[in-house]
Amino acid sequence: MPWNIESHLSHCCSARVLSSFDGVLFLYRCSSCGAEASGPSPAVLCACGATVGATCRDAGLRCAPNPVRSVDRPAEIEVVALSRYKTMELRRGKLNV
Ligand SMILES: [Zn+2]
Ligand SMILES: [Zn+2]
Repeated sequence: MPWNIESHLSHCCSARVLSSFDGVLFLYRCSSCGAEASGPSPAVLCACGATVGATCRDAGLRCAPNPVRSVDRPAEIEVVALSRYKTMELRRGKLNV
C-alpha cells in the first residue's frame, strides 16, 4: 500500500503521521516508531486527538503548519496550543468565529 504523508505529528513521537487507504479503512502510522491506528481522521494517532486524564479531556493541542520556518525551527509541521492554533487559522482566513 502506498503511504501519504499527513500534515500531522504523532502524539507518541511528534513524528509525521503516514496514512494509507485499503479501500475500507484509513490506516494511520507513526513514521518514527511505527505505531498504527485506524479511524476517520489522523486525530486517532496525532496530537490533535491527544487527551488527558481518565475523562479523555481534549489536551488542547493541534498540528499546524509552521508559519516561520527557520534554521532554529525547520519543521514543516508543529504542534501548537489550541488557542494559538485558532489565532493562526483566523489569520489565514480559514476560521470564521
Ligand atoms: Zn511514534
Ligand atoms: Zn493533528
